[in-house]
Amino acid sequence: MSSCIFCKIINGEIPSTKIYEDELVYAFLDISPINFGHTLVIPKEHHESASTIPEETAGRMFKVASRIGIAMKRELDMDGYNLHLADGLAAGQVVMHAHLHVVPRGVEDDFHWNWRQLAYPEGKMAGIAEKIISKLKIS
Ligand code: 5GP
Ligand code: ZN
Repeated sequence: MSSCIFCKIINGEIPSTKIYEDELVYAFLDISPINFGHTLVIPKEHHESASTIPEETAGRMFKVASRIGIAMKRELDMDGYNLHLADGLAAGQVVMHAHLHVVPRGVEDDFHWNWRQLAYPEGKMAGIAEKIISKLKIS
């Protein structure tokens, strides 16, 4: 898509620091990292949502992200990594070309996800599960 900033990065119209590339995916350093080395893995084909990425490409994204995470731990002397994907504005997606974040983490990196933990009211859990399952199509 011509107006998409990540499509421009893939095409070389906007410079990026490449970490990995193959026929399906491109990986490059995030310009505003949570920690140094923070990488984005994107499909070469433009998809706004991760849900429309073909299975082979989505699988490759996960594989590449995991391998990058391992490389970060070893070579950047980090203790772990987060994989993060925001799908949709409500989830915090800013760039509308699907992307998987690989965030290197250190035990004392002083970064905290604001991850709340709600409690289900009595009897609510089963109903929620039923609704999700009723619309689930894995093919
Ligand atoms: P989102 O919030 O959509 O999950 O993440 C978008 C990410 O893209 C952000 O972390 C942001 O720093 C990164 N980003 C946005 N524009 C550019 C750019 O032009 N170059 C690079 N390397 N990263 C970008
Ligand atoms: Zn794009």
